[in-house]
Amino acid sequence: MARVVDTGMTNFGHYRSLVRHLRKHVELDYPISIRRTRLPDGLDGDATLANGRFVVRINRELTENSAIDTVIHEISHCVVLESHQGHGPAWGMAYSRVYQEYLVWLDGI
Ligand SMILES: [Zn+2]
Repeated sequence: MARVVDTGMTNFGHYRSLVRHLRKHVELDYPISIRRTRLPDGLDGDATLANGRFVVRINRELTENSAIDTVIHEISHCVVLESHQGHGPAWGMAYSRVYQEYLVWLDGI
C-alpha cells in the first residue's frame, strides 16, 4: 500500500487534509461527522448511521498513517451502509472508489 511519508510530526496535518479531500469528493447520502476520539483498545474506528447522519469515529491513539488507513476504511462503510454491512463485495467496490480519491489526494501533496 502506498504510504504517506511519516514525518514524525503529530499535528495530523496529512490526515486532516485527506479528510477534507474525501468530504469534498466522495458522494454520500447523508451528512458525515468524522472525529478522532477515545475508543476501546483494539477498535481502530467505526461507522454508524443515526438520525440521518453518518458518524465516523477514529481511535485517537492511532498513528497518523493508521488513522488515514482507518478513515478510508470507515468512509467506505458509509458509502454503502444503508444496504450493506460488513466487508462484502459492495463494501469492496466502495473501498475501491474511496481509495481512488486517496490516490488523487496523494498525488497532490
Ligand atoms: Zn470495516
